[in-house]
Amino acid sequence: MIGLEIELSLPPFSYFLAGGLSLGYIVLLLTTFRNRVQIGTSQNWLIALLFTALLAQAIHIVHPRASEGPYAALFVAGITQPAIGVYLISLMLIVFGAYTFRYVQRSGALILLILGAAWWIAVIVAGFTVPNQAILGQAGWLVQAFRQPIDVPSLVAIGGWTVIGVLAFATAFTASASARLPEIGNRALFWVVVILLVMLGAVLGVSGDETLKQVGWIAQFVGLTGAVSGAISHRVFDIRRAARMGFSSILVTAVTAVMILAALLIARGFNPTGSGLILLIMLAIAVAILYVPVRAVMRGLADRTLGSPVEDSAQVARRYSQDIAGVVELDELVDVSMKTLRDALRVRRGCLMLATRDDDETLRVEPMYNGMGDLPADLRGWIPKNSGVYRTLYEQRTTLLQFDLEYNRQYTDSAPELLSFFRQLRMGAYAPIAVPGQLIGILAVGQKGNDEPFYTRDLEILATIANQTGISLRNARLVNDLRTASDSMQVLNVDLVKTKERLEKLDSVKSDFITVASHELRTPLAQIRGYTDIIETMNDQGILSADQVGSMTLNLRKATDRLERLIGDMLDVSQLDTDAMDLRFAQTTVENVMRLAIEPLTESIKQRKLTVMARHLHGLPPIQADMQRLVQAFRNVVLNAIKFTPDGGRIDITASLQNNTKSGSDEILIAIQDTGIGIDAKNQDLIFEKFFRVSDPGLHSTGATKFLGAGPGLGLTIARGVIQGHGGRIWVESPGYDPRELPGSTFFIILPVSPPEDAKRVMPFESGTTSASEPHRIGASV
Ligand code: ADP
Repeated sequence: MIGLEIELSLPPFSYFLAGGLSLGYIVLLLTTFRNRVQIGTSQNWLIALLFTALLAQAIHIVHPRASEGPYAALFVAGITQPAIGVYLISLMLIVFGAYTFRYVQRSGALILLILGAAWWIAVIVAGFTVPNQAILGQAGWLVQAFRQPIDVPSLVAIGGWTVIGVLAFATAFTASASARLPEIGNRALFWVVVILLVMLGAVLGVSGDETLKQVGWIAQFVGLTGAVSGAISHRVFDIRRAARMGFSSILVTAVTAVMILAALLIARGFNPTGSGLILLIMLAIAVAILYVPVRAVMRGLADRTLGSPVEDSAQVARRYSQDIAGVVELDELVDVSMKTLRDALRVRRGCLMLATRDDDETLRVEPMYNGMGDLPADLRGWIPKNSGVYRTLYEQRTTLLQFDLEYNRQYTDSAPELLSFFRQLRMGAYAPIAVPGQLIGILAVGQKGNDEPFYTRDLEILATIANQTGISLRNARLVNDLRTASDSMQVLNVDLVKTKERLEKLDSVKSDFITVASHELRTPLAQIRGYTDIIETMNDQGILSADQVGSMTLNLRKATDRLERLIGDMLDVSQLDTDAMDLRFAQTTVENVMRLAIEPLTESIKQRKLTVMARHLHGLPPIQADMQRLVQAFRNVVLNAIKFTPDGGRIDITASLQNNTKSGSDEILIAIQDTGIGIDAKNQDLIFEKFFRVSDPGLHSTGATKFLGAGPGLGLTIARGVIQGHGGRIWVESPGYDPRELPGSTFFIILPVSPPEDAKRVMPFESGTTSASEPHRIGASV
């Protein structure tokens, strides 16, 4: 191929080394190519890097002063092999710098590549413009470049290298310092070592000094081999751990050496025969006895100062299984497992996640929130059964590192939501909690107190604890599920009891109707029948006086009035039921309506020695209302207050204007408060139902205003219907039923100042006259 002219005066080793290393680079290239799937997107960058490194190395196989063969033309043009070496190594460094950005996952690789290309051209151009460009890379070049006033090509080249070196170091260091996971930090730290080797190798390789050059080539090759191994296996050699082990070994060796040295110094004074020999043997035994404990103490000291776990998994497992033996509560189980993890692994964060089958293909995982360290609220994730995460945790039953989730191609292809779920947990390692046939939870730990990565030993302990948690977790979840089920059963039960009570009441209302209707109808009918019989008999006998006729017709009128009222009330209620009540709206005032409602009752109020006070009714804005109906409604309520308040009691009626915050319209709130027997909470809604009354339905209506006088149970039903027809509301508030303590009741009525459109159900006057709107029907129950 290339015409080589080997000068025997030069050591041929350099050429063999250059050839060997070039072959090495070819092997690295092939390895990279074979593992390109593993390496992923940055494979092309790595191939470019190795290729430039191969070129920069292979050029050294050519003799520096080859002036014949194909290379001669270049040589004649002034491009020497050492200069080409500088150009190629510069090219390699550009690609290396760019690849560094890719490796530690920082953006900017492309920009660096573009700027680097510009600089590279500048190096070459500078090499040509300066007459003695051949100086680049010649023997003693670097030393000379600094000793003499520095020449332009050297300045450009050295300047560029410095920039690339500083950039690469800064990037790797910041990546290491700001890493979320210790493993990521270690990866960046590992790269710092690679940078160190490659940069050093590059500089020495073109230094021009024969020995340094060879050392440089080897350093660079070692560095790039590290780069390839770092790219292929995402988990790299643990730099910090190596440092710790080194430190610990040095400490132990030093102490041992001091002990032996001390023994030797003492032995120097002994005569190695007779008693001297015995003393010497004793000294040797003393050193031997001391050696083991001192060594152990030193190792322990080194471990402790550099913080590595001290417990072994069997010990932890034994203690943990004792601790969780009696635990059946989920929360307690989390507490115990967290405490164990904290003690055994010295972690700052941790959580227990519950895994539940969501459907045949997916598991839902939710962290319990009483773990170590805070978690974002309402966090949950879904693990598909065909995912790498599921395979590792359930099928292989092995632990999983967050670092693997982010760097191992087995997981990086997982659904972004799943990866984001794990990332939000901010944990470092996960272990499956499984029972036969099912993954029921995941135990997670994050960040060790000393920020170290999780070692095999840590993962073993984590796996052991997770393993032991299985049965307890299943039991605790069962207990929890049972408790939740029993809680909801209890709630259902309460609902059922309530519904049953209401249904029973309504059912009794129904049968009450029959009782009430028969009683209420039968009583006046019997009276009518009785009086007519008496009148007939007396008339037959001719003993009927005018006085007797007068008194008996009065009684007959009372009985027919009562019948009429009852039938009127029932008609009203049936109208309300069929939505057929007509309301004729006209302007009036609450004060007016109330006055008309109370007027016919004044006599009874006096008899019963009740005090009725109406206040603040004056001065309220006029309302739109069906006067007669509203009078009927108010009277029914006031009448009840009279009936259910013992003699000498008090009835207070007040009214006020208020604004409805929802509709924004004005309304009037009327309160009718009595000092009567009160109403039980469970009946406060029911009393508005038709035929409902708290007292024994067997009692017939007294039709009067007597204390506890029974009625047919229609008064409030009609009142509610009328008020709702006005777009209003009626309800009662009472501390309870107590005929002795007399807690009283307050009926509240809200009436809008102008009723809503749909409340006005005005029928033409001619077509809609019913008994309900006839004036004598008002005050039906009096
Ligand atoms: P009635 O015709 O029985 O008065 P209502 O519908 O007017 O029918 O009332 C239903 C029941 O509500 C009454 O039987 C009574 O038990 C109860 N009630 C109504 N108003 C009062 C009140 N002010 N104090 C105590 N109980 C009341």
